[in-house]
Formats: sequence, structure tokens, C-alpha cells
Amino acid sequence: MIACFCGQPHALGRRFLLASAVAAAALPARAQNVPASAGPADPALIEDLVAGNRILYDQNVVDGFGHISVRHNKDPNRYLLSRSMAPALVTADDIIEYDLDSNPVNANGRSSYLERFIHGEIYKARPDVKAIVHSHSPGILPFADTGVKLRPMNHIASFLGDGAPVFEIRASAGLESDMLIRNAALGKALAVTLGNHPVALMRGHGSVAAAQSIRHVVFRAVYTEVNAKVQAEALKLGKPEYLNAKEAAAATKANDGLVDRPWELWKRRAMAKS
Ligand code: MN
Repeated sequence: MIACFCGQPHALGRRFLLASAVAAAALPARAQNVPASAGPADPALIEDLVAGNRILYDQNVVDGFGHISVRHNKDPNRYLLSRSMAPALVTADDIIEYDLDSNPVNANGRSSYLERFIHGEIYKARPDVKAIVHSHSPGILPFADTGVKLRPMNHIASFLGDGAPVFEIRASAGLESDMLIRNAALGKALAVTLGNHPVALMRGHGSVAAAQSIRHVVFRAVYTEVNAKVQAEALKLGKPEYLNAKEAAAATKANDGLVDRPWELWKRRAMAKS
């Protein structure tokens, strides 16, 4: 037992408490900026998120740039997204948790994607959305940049419905922006353009896809790019006959139950290369 001024036998405990109080005094600034974690996510969700990153690279939707996120399974006010890196190299250890203002919960020195606000603001606006892809895939750019509407060429891309809206960043950021969704206001403006659509194009930039799961959003991101290439070819030949609204709705209902089939194929191929 260590003697102390108070003469009580709990001197060591008291010293410990004092030290703890000093440490706690340094905490408030950090506590104010770092939101609480929702806790560990379902490992199966993390596995799908890692696979989604790899698949999107293997299917030519993302390259060194682009990202995919998923809403946290334990808290709808949290989402999961890789640290800032090439998607094809993402592992489970690279996944960071964010709140819907896109503040990292557990960055631990890891850097965040500048455009993470795309994800946070769409999750805020769309409670039905559980996963989001942002990419710069080349096939969609002719449609993002010309005003020619991207519309479904076949039943697989039926989710495009009556066509993908196009986000014009100049309406929010003026004529001198760097085109990036680098803050919450721009993310919110993009979410407004997306509305209830599954896909929005971004003029001079790329696109965003949203869906009810990682597998559905990967399906949509892949077939948005495929559809864009097919539509560009068709437009060289003449005036394409697109799916009408009822065909598109019926086909989407059918496809939504079939996303595991291409997912398993794409996953095996992408993971075998890593
Ligand atoms: Mn981008």
C-alpha cells in the first residue's frame, strides 16, 4: 500500500483516477468530431463490399478511380466505404465506417475519398437505398455530355426505365468548379437529380448507381455501362426502339430476383485474379 496525503488506503486508485481525469480532459475535442461507431458490421456484408470493389474493376466500371459503399447493417445512419485507394486492391482492412455527414468513425489515420459525400447524401435522401456505386466508366460519358438520354436497350438494363437524369454541377458550383462532389451541398444536389431513379449521369464526370443491396447495385453499374455502349452503336444505325415503361417495370421486377447468378460468376473471376 502506498501512503498519500489523504491518509486513505486507496492512494494508488486515487492517483489512477487523477491521471484518468487529466486524460479525459483532452478527449472532448475528439469526441465532438468523431461520431460513435455502430459496431462491427456483418462479415458477409464486408465480404460482399470487398468483392464488389474487385468486380467493378474486373467488369470495367471502375479503374484507379470510383467507389462502392453499403449502408451499415446495424445502423441506417452509418455507411461503409473503402479508404482512398484503387478499388481492385481493397481488402476488409481498408473499409472505413462513416456517418451520413460523411465523417469517418474509425479512420485511424487512413485517408478518405474526396467524393464520399455522394454516398452520405444519397443515403440521407433515399432510405430505400442500401448500396451506391460512383464511377467514371467511359461508355456513359457520351450520354452524360451530349444530352442524348441513356435508355434501356434490352430487358437486362430495364432498370434505366424512362432514362437516366443528368446532373449538371454548374447549377450548384458555377462555371469554375473542379467537377468533384467535394462537399455535402454538392452531394445533396446530386441526390436531388437522382430523385427516385436508380442511375444518374454526371455531366463532364461519370455516373452514380443506387440499389437495395451490393449485388443489385453492382448489377446496375455493370449493365449501365454495357447498355451505354450498345445504345451508342444503335444510334449509329438509326433510331432505337427502347423498352416502354411497362416493359421496363416488368423486366426489372424479374431481374431483381436474379442478381445472384451474374454476381457468383463475376465474383469468382474477380477474386481469382487477386
Ligand atoms: Mn468521381
